[in-house]
Amino acid sequence: MQDKSFSTKAIHEGEEPKLEKGQSGDVVAPIHLSTTYARSVLEVPTSGFEYSRSENPTRNALEAKLAAIEQASYGMAFASGLAAETTLIFALLQQGDEIVASDDLYGGSRRLINSFAKFGISVRYVDTTNVDNIKCNDNTKMIWLESPTNPLLKLTDIAAVKNNMTNTDVTLVVDNTFASPFFQNPLKLGADVVLHSTTKYIGGHSDVVGGAIMVNQKHLYEKIKYFQNALGGVPSPFDSYLTLRGIKTLAVRMEKHQQNALAVAKFLEENPKVKNVVYPGLSSFAQHQLAKKQMSGYGGIITFFINGGYKEAKSFLESLHVFALAESLGGVESLIEHPASMTHASIAKEDREKIGITDNLIRVSVGNEDVDDLLRDLSSGLTQV
Ligand SMILES: *Cc1c(COP(=O)(O)O)cnc(C)c1O
Repeated sequence: MQDKSFSTKAIHEGEEPKLEKGQSGDVVAPIHLSTTYARSVLEVPTSGFEYSRSENPTRNALEAKLAAIEQASYGMAFASGLAAETTLIFALLQQGDEIVASDDLYGGSRRLINSFAKFGISVRYVDTTNVDNIKCNDNTKMIWLESPTNPLLKLTDIAAVKNNMTNTDVTLVVDNTFASPFFQNPLKLGADVVLHSTTKYIGGHSDVVGGAIMVNQKHLYEKIKYFQNALGGVPSPFDSYLTLRGIKTLAVRMEKHQQNALAVAKFLEENPKVKNVVYPGLSSFAQHQLAKKQMSGYGGIITFFINGGYKEAKSFLESLHVFALAESLGGVESLIEHPASMTHASIAKEDREKIGITDNLIRVSVGNEDVDDLLRDLSSGLTQV
């Protein structure tokens, strides 16, 4: 599958039918529930499988597919995005090490990284949209970026960060959840590790929580793989199956997310009840040129500021019928949320406003419905305000 294009790999990789006599020839990877595997001789596992926390055939199929869609040498699947992140930190860092991270990191990642303080691993948050702000000292062992960020969709020039890195001991990590592997491949831009919450676009149907890590370097793979088994944060066979099933349509979903999002962004930009729209695909987007350079598309997330404040945002959000008022993103169903009250409520109001998450900010995850229905819903909602 190495030389094939995105959807061919997304559909077939890890699931090639086994056609030898005695094999069933499944065209879809079966859900292998067995937790343990018998052997015929004492010393070695006959089939290569021993115990399902370490290796499981359904999870292996998912890991092959995850590697293929990110054009990586190795993929590893986890029980959640945060399980992947926990494993990564445990595998690569030790007491005294420092992480330099984007100041606009996903809230759950921030809470997790901060928790490692009790093991003597510190973090310094900087505005990575200006790559010159990233300064490593002797203790810095990891740079952790998210691009685009949540909910302000700020971009960091990944290739420029890599170019500025002089110390080869530092690992460059990119959380690629928002762009998905269809629109951005950070390993090609110089990242050492790519992270995903597969709960979002990769799974794509809001029905399975999961995480992934993709790498090209064997030494990174071996360290992370060791801790995948040692910490045990692995997905079940059924979760693996659902994620495998989701990935097959990633390309068509992403195309439709983007097509709908562009129409919604343009509609919002022209509506008098809307103050400002943030979407990387708009020419008004501050980092539109960078988006064009490092991404092959702009994704399905839009952030906008409604005229007014909390009251206007609330009356608009509660009047929608097609958009579900819910956290999370990346599924085929359109979701809308109020970061100040929902995803970012744990950040103190003062700090929230400092990073630009005001009470009139609304985040939209544009789904795969018919765009006319989406536009009518938004239009009627804005009329009520
Ligand atoms: C959701 C999310 C995570 C965390 O993933 P879970 O699957 O919820 O554990 C990490 N990073 C980003 C950008 C996310 O959106």
